[in-house]
Amino acid sequence: MRVLVVGAGIGGLSAAIALAQRGIEVELVEVKPVDTPLGIGLVLPANALRGLRELGVLDDCLAAGFPFDRNVFCDPDGRPLVEVPGLIGRDDGLPSLAVHRADLHQLLLAAVEKAGVTVRYGVSVSTVDSAPDAARVRLTNGRTGEYALVLGFDGVNSAMRRYVSDSPAARPRAAGYATWRVAAPRAPEIRCGTLWIPTACTRRYGSGWSGTVARSAPSSTRCPGRPASCTARSRRCCWTRGTGDGWWSPATRHTRRRRT
Ligand SMILES: Cc1cc2nc3c(=O)[nH]c(=O)nc-3n(C[C@H](O)[C@H](O)[C@H](O)COP(=O)(O)OP(=O)(O)OC[C@H]3O[C@@H](n4cnc5c(N)ncnc54)[C@H](O)[C@@H]3O)c2cc1C
Repeated sequence: MRVLVVGAGIGGLSAAIALAQRGIEVELVEVKPVDTPLGIGLVLPANALRGLRELGVLDDCLAAGFPFDRNVFCDPDGRPLVEVPGLIGRDDGLPSLAVHRADLHQLLLAAVEKAGVTVRYGVSVSTVDSAPDAARVRLTNGRTGEYALVLGFDGVNSAMRRYVSDSPAARPRAAGYATWRVAAPRAPEIRCGTLWIPTACTRRYGSGWSGTVARSAPSSTRCPGRPASCTARSRRCCWTRGTGDGWWSPATRHTRRRRT
């Protein structure tokens, strides 16, 4: 049985590992020329870790990230308001994990290689013809192949989705939410999920919260070009777009607020 997985993000890599570990021949195509995970950090709750345990990469993930078992919600000045233990993993003793996306990708790629999956970068799918016996696929590199199954893991703007449904209801819609992330060294006093509830942002942006576990900006850090009241400790409106450069980027909420 041959399976084609389209997209080498977290989903595609995980599916490819799981299938190959069960003796299925898997090919994986990724449109980007090399592995370049977008974004900075991820918080993986215990149910995600259960999946990674199934794939045999849990210990490596735990070593690469920052495990924690509770979240503390703080007011804008960092005063703890409430502590909420994570209960998802209590039955099997699993924590939540904050991990860098690049580290997770490296682990999953190593497992993909170990499982014997063929990965082709810079390649996508041109056409899929579904026949009763197989899916006939033409790839953008000119190759053709027959597969028992084609799995679309090609992200929110999936090109494969149209083979399942082309209805407007199946297309992604902007919901008006935005997330800013920044990676920075974790302050030693941060030992668990630590979330600041920025009241000003909450009023304007709904249920906005900010926080980090794996990495946190030094408390004295001032957001460049922002009001003096805006420090990394206060976290008022200071989240930055996760550009991958690991530090503050120009497009902060202050910029956006002035425009709106
Ligand atoms: C800002 C932000 C923060 C998030 N934080 C968290 C978090 O803390 N915890 C959590 O669990 N989740 C989080 N998520 C969600 C998580 O990132 C996604 O659920 C996850 O990345 C989905 O994985 P995926 O592999 O399905 O898709 P993607 O990660 O989008 O990967 C899709 C892959 O397919 C490739 N591709 C696209 N089109 C084609 C094509 N035509 N042919 C071949 N390849 C193609 C892309 O290049 C990409 O490599 C966050 C998402 C965002 C945006």
